[in-house]
Amino acid sequence: MSNAFNLGKIFGIQFRLHYSWFIIFILITVSLSWQYSPSNYPAWSLALFRFLGIVTSLLFFASVVAHELAHSLVGRANGIPIKSITLFIFGGIARMTREVTKAKSELLMAAAGPACSLAIGGLFALLWFFTRNTIAPIAVMALWLAGVNMVLAVFNLIPGFPLDGGRVFRSLLWHFTGNYKRATRVATQMGRGVGYSFILGGILIVFLHPFGLSWFDGLWIAFIGLFLENAASTSYRQVQWREALRGLTVSQVMLSDFSVVSPTITVNQLIQGYVFARGQRCFLVADEGGMRGILTLQNIQGVSQQNKDVTQAKEIMTPIDKLKVAYPDEDVLDVLERMNGADINQMLVVSAGRAIGLFTRDNLMLFLSFRSKLGRWRFPL
Ligand SMILES: [Zn+2]
Repeated sequence: MSNAFNLGKIFGIQFRLHYSWFIIFILITVSLSWQYSPSNYPAWSLALFRFLGIVTSLLFFASVVAHELAHSLVGRANGIPIKSITLFIFGGIARMTREVTKAKSELLMAAAGPACSLAIGGLFALLWFFTRNTIAPIAVMALWLAGVNMVLAVFNLIPGFPLDGGRVFRSLLWHFTGNYKRATRVATQMGRGVGYSFILGGILIVFLHPFGLSWFDGLWIAFIGLFLENAASTSYRQVQWREALRGLTVSQVMLSDFSVVSPTITVNQLIQGYVFARGQRCFLVADEGGMRGILTLQNIQGVSQQNKDVTQAKEIMTPIDKLKVAYPDEDVLDVLERMNGADINQMLVVSAGRAIGLFTRDNLMLFLSFRSKLGRWRFPL
């Protein structure tokens, strides 16, 4: 997810905040200002309202972080490394560098989040219980936080992938049928079903206002539904891609048709002389001193029209010290994992100390689309 900024590391996991988080933060603040209003508690001072509002928002934020951290720490203990967590409008997205390979690991990891929210909700409920007749401001805050954490737990337990409940459901199905692909298909279809139900429910609320719900509640629920449906479809496509790539090696999908160009060649010369004329998409940049870097269409696309005559290859190439190396016999999925871990889009393929090709995400997508267009015909590669 782009459009997010770093918050810092907790237990070695990078936490990031996506801008959409501020929408939920404003909604929470507005909801709290209704809750903490002088009409409910005439005896409280304005300073107390403000103080409670800020503390409650921060504790809510901490509750969400704890939920995500529970997923990550249990995941890590079960051999699934988590690189970063991005908090966004609907919760958190964990970035794993490796897919889960055991149903039990997935079950534990998925259940940890809602379990953590339930536990936090329970603690706030206890706090409410012991302060309800003595310290009213704390009791009010504890009750709100208890409720919100319970909602967080229950919402996430809805059995539609990629919600936690959908992951729990998939892991059980996977465990009992032994078929990961089918389990994912069923769980993501349920996720889409849940998404469509939310959209339909939201629209009905907008027009019918049942149970005193407002048009805004309806819009919000429909919006969540849209997001869920989208996330479920994307997850399923990702699994299909992984299945399509299973068993392929780097040498089968690498680009081996590349030219060696000088570091001082301009983008325009490159486009005219190589891209248009020969249909090439990937270049090794080298001079007398040896190899300097690599250049792909992706690098070239970033150059604006008026700069194409002056920009040289060396200014936009991926320099050699930033390049990582893959080997022709390696598994494509392993290399993709390494690329995800290092946040890069291409790797140099070397054999016996020589560059023999380039492995790029772009080319992999192209390969997959060619293969799907050619139907079930299997590549002799
Ligand atoms: Zn969760």
